[in-house]
Amino acid sequence: MVQSKYLTGDSAAINEFLDKFDVFLFDCDGVLWSGDRLFEGTVETLELLRSKGKRVVFVTNNSTKSRQDYQKKLTGMGIPSEVEEIFASAYSSAIYISRILKLPEPRNKVFVLGESGIEQELRTENISFIGGTDPSLRRDITPADFAGLADGSMLDSDVGIVLAGLDFHVNYLKLAMAYQYLRRGAVFLATNLDSTLPMSHTFFPGAGSISVPLVNMTGQKPTALGKPSQAMMDAIEGKFRLDRARTCMVGDRLDTDIQFGIEGGLGGTLAVLTGVSKKEQWEAEDAAFVPAYYVDKLSDLRGASS
Ligand code: PLP
Ligand code: CA
Repeated sequence: MVQSKYLTGDSAAINEFLDKFDVFLFDCDGVLWSGDRLFEGTVETLELLRSKGKRVVFVTNNSTKSRQDYQKKLTGMGIPSEVEEIFASAYSSAIYISRILKLPEPRNKVFVLGESGIEQELRTENISFIGGTDPSLRRDITPADFAGLADGSMLDSDVGIVLAGLDFHVNYLKLAMAYQYLRRGAVFLATNLDSTLPMSHTFFPGAGSISVPLVNMTGQKPTALGKPSQAMMDAIEGKFRLDRARTCMVGDRLDTDIQFGIEGGLGGTLAVLTGVSKKEQWEAEDAAFVPAYYVDKLSDLRGASS
C-alpha cells in the first residue's frame, strides 16, 4: 500500500520536501481559505515559498469566477498575484474551445449553463455564446417553448457546443434547451465535475451536478475541463513550461486535486486537512488516490527552517 508522508512538525522533512519542487500548483478553496475566510498563515506561507524562488500557480475548479474575479479575491485577501498565475475552470474551458476544439464557424457558438465568470472568459477568447445569465431564460417553460424546441424555431442553429458549469439559475427550460442542442450533435463540455460545493460548514450541489441531468438524458458524458482533467494540466504546462517532476499539486480533495497531480505525473502531491477529504480516505485499503505528503494545514509548511 502507498503511504502518505506526514510533514506537520517535522522541519527536516519539510525542508527536504520544499527542495524537491520549483512549482507549486495551489487548489484554492479548502487550502488557502474556506469561502470568504482566509486561513491563518496563508499569506505568510505563500510569501515563504516565493522568497525561496518557487513559482506559485492558483488552480481552482470554481467556474463562477473569471481569472480577473479571482485576482480581485486574492488581492482582497492580501495575496499578491498576476492574472497569468490563475487557472480557473471557466478559463480552461474557454481556451479548450478556442485553441483545442476549434470548431469551424459558424458552429462554434456555445450554449452556456453557468454564471458570469464563464461568460467573461468566453468573451476574452472571442467565443460567441447564448444562455448563461440571460434573464429571459429565468422563467417557467411554456407550451410555446415546448413547440419552439420541438420544431427547432427557438434554437440557434449556430450552437455547436453545450458548456455546463455551476448555474445558480438552472431550470427546466435551460435543461430542455441544452438537451435539444446535444440531440442535434453539439459537443458536450463541463467546466468541472465536482459533485458538491462545500460552503458554510455543509455541502451544496456542485457544477458536476448541473451536468448530470444531461448525462441522464443523452447517455453521453461531457468532456470536463477542470481538475482532474488533464486538459487543464496541459494548458498549465503550455503556459509555464513546467518540469512536471519538479512540480507539486497542493489540494484538499482526493478526487479532484490529488488525482489531478497523480495522473499528470507530477513529482509530488500534498494534501491538507482543512477541506473536503479526510486522511481516513487515503489510508483506506482501497484508496484510489494517495497523496505523497500531507499536513494538517498549509501554514504547517512554515515549520521549515530557512
Ligand atoms: N466550484 C464553485 C462554484 C466554488 O465556489 C468552489 C469553491 O469556492 C469550487 C468549485 C471549488 O474550488 P477549488 O477548486 O478552489 O476548491
Ligand atoms: Ca478545494
